[in-house]
Amino acid sequence: MGRILIKNGIVITMDPRRRIIKNGAVAIENDRIVEVGKSDALKSFQADKVFDARDRIIMPGLVDAHIHNVQMLSRGLGDDVDLIAWCYDRIYPYEVLLNQSDEYTYLSAMLCCAEMIRTGTTTGADPGGYKMENVARAFVESGMRGIVSWSGMDQWSQDRPLPDGLLGKLNTDDTMKAEEKLIRDWHGKENGRIRASYALRVEPNITDDLYRRVKQAAERDGVLVQMHAAVNKDQVEWVRKKTGLTTIAYMNKIGVLQPNWLLTHMAVLTDEEVKMLKEHDTKICHNPGATLHGAYGAAVIGKFPEMLEMGITVAMGCDSSAANNSLDMFRTMYEVATVHKEIRLIPDLIPPEKALEMATVDGARALQWEKEIGSLEKGKKADVIIVETRRSNWIPMHDFSIVPNLVYSGEGADVETSIIDGKIVMENRKILTINVDRVLSQAQEAASKIVAKLPYKIEPRWPIE
Ligand SMILES: [Zn+2]
Repeated sequence: MGRILIKNGIVITMDPRRRIIKNGAVAIENDRIVEVGKSDALKSFQADKVFDARDRIIMPGLVDAHIHNVQMLSRGLGDDVDLIAWCYDRIYPYEVLLNQSDEYTYLSAMLCCAEMIRTGTTTGADPGGYKMENVARAFVESGMRGIVSWSGMDQWSQDRPLPDGLLGKLNTDDTMKAEEKLIRDWHGKENGRIRASYALRVEPNITDDLYRRVKQAAERDGVLVQMHAAVNKDQVEWVRKKTGLTTIAYMNKIGVLQPNWLLTHMAVLTDEEVKMLKEHDTKICHNPGATLHGAYGAAVIGKFPEMLEMGITVAMGCDSSAANNSLDMFRTMYEVATVHKEIRLIPDLIPPEKALEMATVDGARALQWEKEIGSLEKGKKADVIIVETRRSNWIPMHDFSIVPNLVYSGEGADVETSIIDGKIVMENRKILTINVDRVLSQAQEAASKIVAKLPYKIEPRWPIE
């Protein structure tokens, strides 16, 4: 760490006025942004390292509010099946094998971090897995900012049994112990770059007791709760059959809709439930790539335009390489800005500027991290990316099309340099904190070993010679 000056670029500040500064500069000292302005005005800043960002955009690092590091070795295993088969037939058996090795979870997370850094994501909120200390280790080493959590589940039914060996298959007391241990061990570590949160996996696997205890513990510890909720009609129907209420109405009844709860997917909601979310300032994460890939219904029957219209904080996430399968937040911004307008037949329904807010400031707010990250402002943490625009997918660019170009034709591969917490983690597309070549080889090898032991076999649709 030291003093870094990035100058001569187009600065997309994402500050409250949403200023865009041409020929702008950002000055960094240690882990903080100390100045943002015109390059001329920052000329006297003495820097150890200077980036010339001519033909480039300087912007806040992207916030992925829902990214499963431990599913990175399962790319391809969750394709083209419904949600129940995705969980029970495909991913839980994968997790059982993954959980047998610390090295596997670590490699999975390192590969995930490499992909996030490569595509401009600087913060990744992991909504839960097991052996998450290995994910935290990957965050430490890669330089990523992130949140780790234990994916809490304390009940399962005979018709949908959880496999033996799935580490999350615990009673309520032991689930709470595992969740609390992660908070104790990791929350606030590495200069505050790593946080931990409570997490609940999905409605059918959560008792009322666990809901309430997680709520109390998260209040006591001042941390976030992450949960998959109302993912598709099946899940919501399960809740309705059991309780007589749909998911969000039920969570409202038991008092767990809170400002520090981040609910993800949220495909199936009533208008009344949208009002409940607004009333309690509950945060939402939209994973458009996952709903498009898994046919959850969030685009077709979801109420994301209504939630945005009401001012509910909606972040965005890439989910995982088994559920999306891309971790490129540029692609996710494109999906958010386009899919809803097509379905509602309203061409300006979610403008690209809103999509960029969801990937930066709104994501930060959803994670309770908005005082530190999400925008380029004096005093905030230095999470900054430099995006090359002298490329055929950006030219021509005009003042009115800077953000539209970024969302509609930009891509993660345009990101050239990434600084997280004031540390340069990628420069000229070379990730400095990860031996990517080694991770790619080891991840392929580990995934091949896991696939060889899975209780199912996926046949290629075309002959492989
Ligand atoms: Zn998830």
